[in-house]
Amino acid sequence: MELISISNVNVRYKNGVNAIHDLSIKIKKGDFVFVIGGSGSGKSTFIKMLYREIKPNTGEIILGGLNVAKLRDSKVYKLRRKLGIVFQDYRLLPKLTVYENVAFALECIGAKKSEIRVKTLKAIELVGLKSKTRSYPDQLSGGEQQRVAIARAIVNNPKLLICDEPTGNLDPDMSMEIVKLLESINKTIGTTIIMATHDREIVNKMKKRVIVLSDGNLIKDYEKGKYYDEAN
Ligand code: ADP
Repeated sequence: MELISISNVNVRYKNGVNAIHDLSIKIKKGDFVFVIGGSGSGKSTFIKMLYREIKPNTGEIILGGLNVAKLRDSKVYKLRRKLGIVFQDYRLLPKLTVYENVAFALECIGAKKSEIRVKTLKAIELVGLKSKTRSYPDQLSGGEQQRVAIARAIVNNPKLLICDEPTGNLDPDMSMEIVKLLESINKTIGTTIIMATHDREIVNKMKKRVIVLSDGNLIKDYEKGKYYDEAN
């Protein structure tokens, strides 16, 4: 079953740059996909169009039954509820504890307090941070902060987890731990994961599907890929 079907998508910025050129791809439910490519190849643009930060100029994006490119601004929340998003810089709220940061995502959608408690504690436990539940972000290492961001992203059980350079600020050991955590979420919960990355070692070790962008073109799609040279 497909979760995402992208057909003939073009993204052109106002300055005339064609950031994505006639891109078509399908991503199945439960897939784990790395998006790689050199700087300026279109990775961020690709990721952003999935959560409708950017609207393609032409083409179609169907995600979990929603027509993403055509969705009215007032309906974008329906898409966002199907997604979790993890960024390179964690984006935690500094004045809130780990618990509060994760619970916040559920409070925003008006969940019941009892439900919030159960789901929040479960997500924090899943990312291995039970002992840090009452800590504040500045009391945590970078890797731990990214775990909190992952807990927040998955607390509402999204179909898709989108990760934009999630290991970009972490050392190699921490990076591998974070990717192993993502792999375990993918395997145990079945969440589909799309991860943009520069990290050659991670891509080579994980042997997942790899799509390679170059100048806005999808130039390779490997089933169990490696970080090939043309990605540079
Ligand atoms: P990557 O994430 O692979 O580095 P991007 O998607 O950020 O690539 O960029 C793809 C191309 O689009 C680059 O040529 C970049 O300069 C251009 N670009 C990115 N964002 C904008 C923007 N907001 N306005 C104009 N051009 C942009």
